[in-house]
Amino acid sequence: MHNEEDISGNAGSAEDRLIARYFRPLATAPGAFELGDDAAVLTPPAGCDLVLTTDAVISGVHFLPDDPPGHIARKVLRMNLSDLAAKGAKPIGFLLSIALPARTEESWIAAFAAGLGEDAKHYGCPLLGGDTDHTPGPLSISITALGTVPSGGMVRRSTAKAGDIVVVSGTIGDAALGVQLRREIGLAERWRLSAASWNHLRQRYLLPQPRNALAEAVLRHASAAMDVSDGLAGDLAKLCRASGVAAEVEVESVPLSDAARMALSADPKLIETVLTGGDDYEIVLTVPAAKLDGFRAAANGAGVPVSQIGCVTAGQGTRFLRAGEVLSFARSSYSHF
Ligand code: ADP
Ligand code: MG
Repeated sequence: MHNEEDISGNAGSAEDRLIARYFRPLATAPGAFELGDDAAVLTPPAGCDLVLTTDAVISGVHFLPDDPPGHIARKVLRMNLSDLAAKGAKPIGFLLSIALPARTEESWIAAFAAGLGEDAKHYGCPLLGGDTDHTPGPLSISITALGTVPSGGMVRRSTAKAGDIVVVSGTIGDAALGVQLRREIGLAERWRLSAASWNHLRQRYLLPQPRNALAEAVLRHASAAMDVSDGLAGDLAKLCRASGVAAEVEVESVPLSDAARMALSADPKLIETVLTGGDDYEIVLTVPAAKLDGFRAAANGAGVPVSQIGCVTAGQGTRFLRAGEVLSFARSSYSHF
């Protein structure tokens, strides 16, 4: 790459200049050395384990090329933050790898970094380093986030027990409905949505609200947990498989937004989309019955709505019951393959 002046007056590549200008301001942790070294250093707090997670998005697969760059940035960071929250971990920083098509405008990068910086600050999760490349393919962005839990304390998928209560945060299905609204003009009318409801569902798809405020409560009270990213039905089934247990869920108890209720009353078949569609970025967890009150109080203190939706039983399989009947789904979760 050709040399030019970077903003601090040092000669460097165009890539160095972009990194210095847009990403260095996000690298507030002392161990990031203002992105001026080959690598970053991080000393985990004494008595803590590091929790590591990564998620990538590709243009045309996970987002559309003309989505607002700040939203794309925040979404991929939030996808990672959601995994940390479900493990009871507190975020401490992240690494960013970005592959840009050659014609990417600098204004795109500026808006991307601005959105990313906003969330990095809001969630207390600074940029530690990364990599920037050009690609002949579509834009792709990968984030690796790091968090901490007290040693040995990460909340696993595999530790649910028969008798535990199944709980989920927030509301389910909004983003999956939001994607459909986006794909098909005219659906909002068919679902008889108000403008506010239409907007709510679209927004829930564009920008997840990871439940990091709930992490401490999950850490203290959950027997098992995972983040709901591929659909509640499929994700709960994964948790049950990992734990060697079964679960029964009362469909009537699954928390829905007013907007999702409106869509469902216009088209009851949408229940499958709601329960299997994904992109919720909520947390599904199991709580021992004796800890339920404590968990509810902690969730309330954290300002995160939580709903009891079913129970863990011995055996295998997850059953979604409505009026005593078991719902069956064509496909229980989103899968790329
Ligand atoms: P090298 O090619 O030797 O790996 P780079 O030029 O890729 O070095 O990186 C220089 C510094 O800039 C490193 O600290 C790296 O972590 C950081 N960096 C590069 N790209 C990004 C990015 N997209 N976001 C954050 N930091 C980045
Ligand atoms: Mg590099």
